[in-house]
Amino acid sequence: MLFKNIGIIDENFDYRQNCWVGTKDDTISYVGESEPADADEYGEVYEGKEKLLIPALYNAHSHAPMTLLRGYAENLPLQAWLEQKCWPFEGKMNGDDNYWATLLSCAEMARYGCVSFSDMYYFSPDRARAVDDAGMKANLCTSPLAFEPKPIQEYPVFAEMEDGIANIDGMGEGRIKFEGCIHAEYTNNDVTAKSVFDWAREHNTRLHVHVSETKSEVEDCRNRHDGKSPVQWLDSLGAFEVPFVAAHCVWVDDDDIALMAKKGVTVAHNPASNMKLASGFAPIAKLLEAGVNVALGTDGMASNNNHDMFQDMYLTAMLPKGHDLDPTAVTPKQAFNAATRAGAIAQGREDCGLLKEGFRADLAVLDVSGPSWCPVNDMLTNVVYAGHGSDVVLTMCDGRVVYRDGAWPTIDIDRVKAEVAARTVRIQSELAEQGA
Ligand SMILES: [Zn+2]
Repeated sequence: MLFKNIGIIDENFDYRQNCWVGTKDDTISYVGESEPADADEYGEVYEGKEKLLIPALYNAHSHAPMTLLRGYAENLPLQAWLEQKCWPFEGKMNGDDNYWATLLSCAEMARYGCVSFSDMYYFSPDRARAVDDAGMKANLCTSPLAFEPKPIQEYPVFAEMEDGIANIDGMGEGRIKFEGCIHAEYTNNDVTAKSVFDWAREHNTRLHVHVSETKSEVEDCRNRHDGKSPVQWLDSLGAFEVPFVAAHCVWVDDDDIALMAKKGVTVAHNPASNMKLASGFAPIAKLLEAGVNVALGTDGMASNNNHDMFQDMYLTAMLPKGHDLDPTAVTPKQAFNAATRAGAIAQGREDCGLLKEGFRADLAVLDVSGPSWCPVNDMLTNVVYAGHGSDVVLTMCDGRVVYRDGAWPTIDIDRVKAEVAARTVRIQSELAEQGA
């Protein structure tokens, strides 16, 4: 495709008008202010008037199949939300439920300009199939809850981990990756956790863990582990010897932040989810100041309840100002970086997340003709503070259009919606029969 006379957010996150951007196969082959010499070698020419081309978004923390639980468990404290609503419902979900719910998440993310997500859940082969069918990208992991102190190899979930490395990692021409995971410190123990981290190191893969999401999680961890915070506990077991994504980090202290910066840990910040579950406000300004790679996540749809990362980007820039009483905290550029390049880095996709020649053609087009985009004193500020996911009119993943003008070329959206709706009803009736 050749985008013609289009505004862009370039590799330095500067706004440039009337550019030409070409994509060949899965790569951005041209970015410039004039028509490329080989213009006739491109396929479709896309008219860029009143459009803005940006790098696509990367979701660094999700539980894609939880779209089945959207609106199901509301206004509850976190532990009751998990134990009384989420876990019983999830216990009824089968492989096909996971497939259809993941496809719905893919459709929603594509609609809002996101092409890739780091997804922690179960039924990895079914999720991988959905991501592959959607033509999108994901870093999948399965999240062992392990209360008995024995190596992961002795848990049934280990077979899924081995299968993930053997058969899922590299699927879809490398669009799909598989990595290691423990759900969290409070759902695990030293022996199992260490065996998972050793396994990740052996397979040279990445790790994705919920870390310091709530105040009580950190207090309980310190009581259980000789005063160690979850971050210190993870470090003591060698978790940070591979690239590591720490989801949440709401209750990290200065020592934790220094340690994460030193070890190159990525924080997946989930501002909507943290507010909805009343977990608190992550110290994003401090994390950024310390040099930590801060990416953005939507978390699961029981705690957000949408995959519109423009909302999370807005909150990322807005919340620290109100919370820290500092209007200079977290710039639009930092928030945009968190939603794009930082997420790509979190997923080990070094050639993604920037609109730059030679990078992957992961792109989103915004319609900037509406009143909220006028005037353009600073386009990036408009994107972060005035933009919405619904402004996205085209999303491209590795050069392939996955969403355009209300249609999903890779997904049968009516079928997906009908499947998800029917499956939610089935699970709820099964729970009702049990009196749950
Ligand atoms: Zn989560």
